[in-house]
Amino acid sequence: MVLSVILIAAQSGGLYLTKVATLERAYYLHLPDRWFEVLHEPHAVPAAVLPAGGAASAAWPLPIATMRYVAQPGDNLSRIKDRFGLTLDTLSSLNRDAGSGVHNVGVGEVFAIPNQDGLFREVESRDHLETVAASYGLAGSDVLAANPGVDAQSVSGSLFFPGAQHSGLERLLRMGLGFDRPLHGGRVSSAFGMRVDPFSGKWRMHRGIDIAAPRGTRVRAAADGRVERVASNNVLGNFVVLDHQARSYQSLYAHLSAVHVRVGERVSTGNTIGRVGSTGMSTGPHLHFELWSRRQPINPASEVPGL
Ligand SMILES: [Zn+2]
Repeated sequence: MVLSVILIAAQSGGLYLTKVATLERAYYLHLPDRWFEVLHEPHAVPAAVLPAGGAASAAWPLPIATMRYVAQPGDNLSRIKDRFGLTLDTLSSLNRDAGSGVHNVGVGEVFAIPNQDGLFREVESRDHLETVAASYGLAGSDVLAANPGVDAQSVSGSLFFPGAQHSGLERLLRMGLGFDRPLHGGRVSSAFGMRVDPFSGKWRMHRGIDIAAPRGTRVRAAADGRVERVASNNVLGNFVVLDHQARSYQSLYAHLSAVHVRVGERVSTGNTIGRVGSTGMSTGPHLHFELWSRRQPINPASEVPGL
């Protein structure tokens, strides 16, 4: 749809344009200039992008290009995606990747706006690229065509997957709607981030959030997932790790007095997986709760409503 609009804009203007950034300029021309802060031209696009034969013979996929949009009063992600004819998946993939939710859009905040729908995903190698592409019904060559300048042999890093969209839980997670509180009740007794360690007295990273609650309180799965690990050590005590959406996210529940799940078991949001306790390095009954995204600990308070 975006492609056809671009072509119409270019043809009706009698122009032969060779840069996507220029095409975007044509497409977005009906919006005031002051709404756009930086025109980003990552790649010069071959003239073949605009074939003489028109849309029917247009090359697909279109090389990715983005521009930047400055949020206006009253904007939210939904309004912005409507304004540019994009999906929420596309917009959140580019702008809310760490899962900061879709609700809070500040006036003046700058958003990356792509010239087509799709998702950015990290890949580690050419083989991995093929695997991820296949999961979206794409060929690796489609993805490479959308990412000009990427060396086909030594592929790694963030690539644009044209037309790819999330499904199910992953969409909810990306939008900050996927997680529920792991405890009903309780009180946050220690936040995520640097703190003085209560045992060593040293300044250390606290990778999760502590929620104080009576011993035996039900600990619930924060999202649909699969039990990846049930174990015990002298720091975390008895703990459970859940895997959500093929390791896009993981959650960890520590210091449990009892564990009610086994490795490999599937759980749904709200299912009881164990009980609050004080096992391991703990000064009293509480749940130590961690969330990980792409192998990095993230602040649960930014993902879980009400934490
Ligand atoms: Zn903790």
